[in-house]
Formats: sequence, C-alpha cells, structure tokens
Amino acid sequence: MILILLGAPGAGKGTQAEKIAAHYNLNHLSTGDLLRTAVAEGSELGRLAKGYMNKGQLVPDDVILGIIRDYLDEHAGVSVLFDGFPRTVTQAEGLDGLLKGDSVRTVSLEVDDEQVIKRLSARRSCRVCGKIYNTALGINPAPDGRCTCGGEIYQRDDDQAETITSRLMIYHDQTEPVISFYRGKGLLIEIEGTGSPDDVFGRIREVLG
Ligand code: AMP
Repeated sequence: MILILLGAPGAGKGTQAEKIAAHYNLNHLSTGDLLRTAVAEGSELGRLAKGYMNKGQLVPDDVILGIIRDYLDEHAGVSVLFDGFPRTVTQAEGLDGLLKGDSVRTVSLEVDDEQVIKRLSARRSCRVCGKIYNTALGINPAPDGRCTCGGEIYQRDDDQAETITSRLMIYHDQTEPVISFYRGKGLLIEIEGTGSPDDVFGRIREVLG
C-alpha cells in the first residue's frame, strides 16, 4: 500500500505523517527531511538541493524521481507513506510509472493561506531528530528549550517570512494540480487540517479505518 500525504507547507504533513506511520505501521519517507539530511551532510545531492531549498523552490523532478525510484527498489513490497511527494504533476506521473500494482490512497490536508503563514512563522524543528514544535499549535518544547532527544531546536531557513511567501506561491502553482490529478483518479481523501494535531489525526483515522 502507498499512502500519499498532500498539503501546503505548514498544513501539518510532518506531524500527521509521524502519527499515521506509527498507527498504520508504514515506512515514512519525507523528501524534505531526506534533502535536509543531505544538505547537512554536504553530499552531492545536498549541494545540488541547497540552493533550491533556501529559495523555497522545488528541487528538479528528475532528481526527486531518482530518489523515489531508489527508495522503492530498496523497499519492494513494503507499505510506504510519502510525505511531501509528489509535489508536481510530473512527479505524480513518474510515481505511477514506478508502482507495480500497489494500491494508492491520497490524503490532502486542507488549511488556508492565513493559517499556513501563522503556523510556518511559529514552527521550529529539532536539528538532530527532526521533531517539529509549534507554539501556534501548542506543541511547545520543554522549559530548557531543547528537544526531547536533547537536540538543538532551530528555525528552518525556508521558514523565514520572505521564503514562506514564495513556497506558498509555488504550492498553488505546481502542487495544487497534483490534488486535481488524484481527485480525477478517484483516489483523493480531503481532510480539514485546522484544529489540534489530535483532532486532525482523529479525522484521518475515521476515513482510513
Ligand atoms: P518540506 O520539508 O516538505 O517542506 O520540503 C522542504 C523543501 O525541500 C521544499 O521547499 C523543496 O525545496 C524541497 N522538496 C521536498 N520535497 C520535494 C519534492 N517532492 N519535489 C521538489 N522539491 C522538494
């Protein structure tokens, strides 16, 4: 089974993906996390991706599809949760070509732009384990200001105000058509993404069973 989690930046994909993967026992692949790790390690992929990511732009489709092809080869027959992929119709079509009869379901988290800006401005992440904190959602770090794993909590470069605007524009322009793509195939489940993470997860469980 392949489960795809779609939604604007800040819609809550990372938070819900952790819950969904644990509850339904899925392998969670966040392309954003994978790319941030590559950037931190200074690998060839990281050097290529860094410029796009810092400007809030998408990494080229062929690079992303190469990552997904390798991942699916290594995880043949395993149920996977994609978080942050596909981000363009070209990626969605590329994924179709890589799947071998797997059943696909797509969950889209619906949050308006005003909420997105509020959430992304308040979002912080752990540099070590990637855990997400957000004062706008009441997900606060411990009083010592560190992650539960002890890691440093920081603000992502692409969560700065000027980059948020361009990420949102790119989302409307390039990623929203992916929602229509899956709607057209009858594979789309739309979930209201406002409210607490537990409320949203409750809605997801109601439809996924
Ligand atoms: P995210 O953590 O999902 O918000 O992703 C952070 C950044 O990584 C994005 O703004 C893009 O620059 C890049 N990225 C992540 N996933 C993809 C993807 N599927 N296609 C292109 N770029 C991506």
